[in-house]
Amino acid sequence: MSIQVFGLPVSRGVAIGRAVLVASSRVDVAHYFIDPADVDHEVSRLRDARNEVAAELVTLKSEVPEEAHAELVALLDVHLMLLHDELLADATKQWIAERHYNAEWAMSAQLEVLARQFDEMEDDYLRERKADIEQVVERVLKALSRQATPSEPGAPGAARDFAGEDPLILVANDIAPADMLQFKRSVFTGFVTDVGGRTSHTAIVARSMDIPAVVGAREASRIVRQDDWIVVDGDAGVIIVNPSPIVLEEYRFRQRQIELERAKLNRLRHTPSVTLDGQAVDLLANIELPSDAAAAIDAGAVGVGLFRSEFLFMNREGQLPDENEQFEAYRAVVLALGGLPVTIRTVDIGADKPLERMSNHELRHEHTLNPALGLRAIRWSLAEPEMFGQQLRAILRASAFGKVRVLVPMVAHLTEVHQIRQALDRAKEELRDKGQPYTEVELGAMIEIPAAALMVSSLLRHFDFVSIGTNDLIQYTLAIDRADEAVSHLYDPWHPAVLRLIEQTIATANAMGRGVSVCGEMAGDPSFTELLLAMGLRSFSMHPAQIASIKQRVLRADARALHGQVGAVLSAEAPEEACASLMKARPH
Ligand code: PEP
Ligand code: MG
Repeated sequence: MSIQVFGLPVSRGVAIGRAVLVASSRVDVAHYFIDPADVDHEVSRLRDARNEVAAELVTLKSEVPEEAHAELVALLDVHLMLLHDELLADATKQWIAERHYNAEWAMSAQLEVLARQFDEMEDDYLRERKADIEQVVERVLKALSRQATPSEPGAPGAARDFAGEDPLILVANDIAPADMLQFKRSVFTGFVTDVGGRTSHTAIVARSMDIPAVVGAREASRIVRQDDWIVVDGDAGVIIVNPSPIVLEEYRFRQRQIELERAKLNRLRHTPSVTLDGQAVDLLANIELPSDAAAAIDAGAVGVGLFRSEFLFMNREGQLPDENEQFEAYRAVVLALGGLPVTIRTVDIGADKPLERMSNHELRHEHTLNPALGLRAIRWSLAEPEMFGQQLRAILRASAFGKVRVLVPMVAHLTEVHQIRQALDRAKEELRDKGQPYTEVELGAMIEIPAAALMVSSLLRHFDFVSIGTNDLIQYTLAIDRADEAVSHLYDPWHPAVLRLIEQTIATANAMGRGVSVCGEMAGDPSFTELLLAMGLRSFSMHPAQIASIKQRVLRADARALHGQVGAVLSAEAPEEACASLMKARPH
């Protein structure tokens, strides 16, 4: 029977495919398709790993001291039995043989199936056996990871040629932004989580992958079963589990239409972005990793407006990138952009992007009650002066290879401004002492705290430009956790208080002749394009995939004519409706 699950739309489009349930704790399991010719090899990898675990368990059993409880021996016997149980062993082989999953993926896929069956058991004793099967699978996964795996393509979830396989959709309870990163360029064509808000960083990474995604779908990972066919409607924020043939046909039709639409928009890639009244508008890219730079260029971005450098600090197994490694990463982006400006944001660690425990640094980053209000972003950098210095030197060194701008997240105090300037001067001095080249870089502040928006004229006496981070500006203005789906209905970019802060920031920066852009998700949302243009914004930074549709709106807008409507929208009780009726873009 077909079931609908509702969540929050995050990334547009429609995905149709088989569900792959991934436990949050197992996102690092490699997910890739094997060559059908390698099925026997993969099955033998699995068999070897199982034999290794069996030997391990038998040895453990023999080493249990006499006086130890018979219980422990009995437990090891249960594990041995589970290891060879056909529900695990044969079914796992089937995932390999029929679906061409790699052994690790097959094993964890079957674990998800079994875990669900255990969860549904009436008997407490049997239900608790789920932990045993998880431990057995954990051992097999470890044994597999010790094997040489010539066919493995590298990163977990890394892409392979999977033409001919059924499309796959990742379904999970929750995935941290850092883990999400591992699924970039992976086998998945859609993405669903139970938790998360529309502008949580997990959602942002999903959007940057340009695959249909729904978050905050509360029950999804419980309702969807491993291998179910599902439809992800990323426009409506709905998941349809086991769709009927008619529904499926309808969605396949929509998929084709979206494809056509995209192909049409793609033709705008190299069209200059100019309004009807001749105003040039810069459309820049937001990127998370150096490898995203290619997508930025492909999409016709005229630069990188936001490089979220903190993603370089994630998935590092306890080692932070040193100055040289950071320099290489920044230089790679600068070179890829071939002279176009690259705005590198200093790390925005904290809140929903915590650093894992590092072994090479004693970091002041412990769990706090209110991480979004705690030692986050520039506060963290200023509390870690050595790390901050390293990052500034790395960015400055990259500036010798192209046009680089430095952007500082979450500025709110003038004292911070002075500390930032001092740190930058110190970094320059250190480079000069070592004879390392750099060029002068512009320094910008993110406006993402209401206090910063209200004092933007003071900030602009010290900064060269500002970039409005609407994701956080909304969160901090409305006191709504951007990652909490329970309050996501109150996370409202159309709230008049938010719009006024944005309008004031743009107007002040323009009046002072300083650069201002928006790099939060609003910049890539076509429903805001006319309003932002009307407010005087001429620089938008967004995921590369959104550039074409924003450009289409820009090309059809008359910015000067729209300007006169801003007051009416800001004072309207329902700004969204007012904007829709007052700011209609003219058809081309
Ligand atoms: C923002 O807050 O709008 C922003 C662009 O930064 P991030 O989403 O990384 O917090
Ligand atoms: Mg932010």
